[in-house]
Amino acid sequence: MVGDLHTGRTGCMGTLSFNGNKIITTGGGGALITDDEALARKAKHLTTTAKQSHPWLFLHDEVGFNYRLPNINAALGCGQLEQLNEYVDAKRALALRYQEWIDTFVDVAFFSEPTGMRSNYWLNALLLENREVRDEFLQYTNDAGVMTRPMWTPMHTLPMYQNCHRDDLTTAQAIEARLVNVPSSVLR
Ligand SMILES: *Cc1c(COP(=O)(O)O)cnc(C)c1O
Repeated sequence: MVGDLHTGRTGCMGTLSFNGNKIITTGGGGALITDDEALARKAKHLTTTAKQSHPWLFLHDEVGFNYRLPNINAALGCGQLEQLNEYVDAKRALALRYQEWIDTFVDVAFFSEPTGMRSNYWLNALLLENREVRDEFLQYTNDAGVMTRPMWTPMHTLPMYQNCHRDDLTTAQAIEARLVNVPSSVLR
């Protein structure tokens, strides 16, 4: 949250992911959120094959998509939504434990929420000194059965996107060399 504005509410439409690794998951898929009724109707139309409503004819008036979230998956999400506050509390409690521990090291930084914002601490991340330390940390923890991971490979370095237009990404690249994600499950 930024002040009292939830993530996804800053523009005219927000997208939420319910991918398997998220704080709430329906297995896959996600949701669009908007308070613009016309946009909502348009999105609904496009995501349900752009079929005009008619008692029997199959008339599609635009290029549409079959992006429905099946009821079974939606039910999973609804069940979890009721527990979202508890999940966030558990995530925040875990983050605090990481933070307190990390604060005892001078050369490791913990990604904490900026002032005036409230993070759900979906995934906790540490910033280590350099790539060598990062690699050592990944090796040590994974050898010990602790599932730590490097940052996702920046998309502009993947073979199929290498020639795409891009901005200056030196900060992203510098962080990529030093960042590790640490286990962040909700414990119940
Ligand atoms: C959530 C997530 C995805 C999936 O996002 P969708 O918007 O649901 O496709 C992919 N990669 C990473 C690293 C993610 O955290």
